Amino acid sequence: MVRVSGISLLNHASHNNYILPAFNVSSVDMAQAILDGSKLAKSPIFLQTNQKNIQSFLTIKKAGKAINDLVQKHPIPVALHLDHANTLEEVQEAKSNHYSSFMLDYSTLPLEENINKIKVIINTINVSANGLEGELGVIGGQSELIGDATFTESLYTDPDEASYFVEKTQVDSLAIAIGARHGIAGKINYNLLNKIQINVNKPLVIHGGSGINKKSFSKLNQHGVKKINFGTAIHNIFYKNHNSENFSLGNNKKELTRYVQLICNDLNSKNQYTSY
Ligand SMILES: [Zn+2]
Repeated sequence: MVRVSGISLLNHASHNNYILPAFNVSSVDMAQAILDGSKLAKSPIFLQTNQKNIQSFLTIKKAGKAINDLVQKHPIPVALHLDHANTLEEVQEAKSNHYSSFMLDYSTLPLEENINKIKVIINTINVSANGLEGELGVIGGQSELIGDATFTESLYTDPDEASYFVEKTQVDSLAIAIGARHGIAGKINYNLLNKIQINVNKPLVIHGGSGINKKSFSKLNQHGVKKINFGTAIHNIFYKNHNSENFSLGNNKKELTRYVQLICNDLNSKNQYTSY
């Protein structure tokens, strides 16, 4: 199986009414354990790295090559996604090294600046064939990447700004702040989600999947959510007993594979994928 674009996975999930899980990876061993879970569940997934994840791979180039080598041997479609990028250099390096999906996060900037920053990058690098995720509203939380203890509802996504943002940037998917947060349990504001869904005719993305009750998945799916990011829970397994020398998982590999398999089954209960 070849690596596929993020946009093709999102289109497939939209047409077939399911949510794609996206897993942050910090080592080759971790990526393999996650791929094993995807294979058992027969579910396509995103594998993704943020700036923190890259530290253990050393460079985006090394991560892209190592993960892509695994994905080439995997029987189910996978998109390799650059998570929370905010520089031209990151996107360029990722695009040259097997990444097939991109997120630009300028969500802490005012709306027009967020839009302009994205425009500058997509005018320089064409990622339209891959798929671009933007973020509006500040998801925040206590993940390894974003330690934001001063989160308030004023940082939730505004539905009118969301339609304006998508129209101006032409992003392919939109990460929204509606109560789910990085690293901690959050309460979803479905009223707000409903308004955003009506205003935005694009797949919606939720970050902070580890803190979401799995009973919410089907309701989120009905409300246009097509990608949910998981980082904290799988890193808790990863860090529990990992070998800090080579970032291998040791005995936790099976536990991680099992966790991923269950998430895939919960999000994509009909095990849908296409062979491309
Ligand atoms: Zn995130």
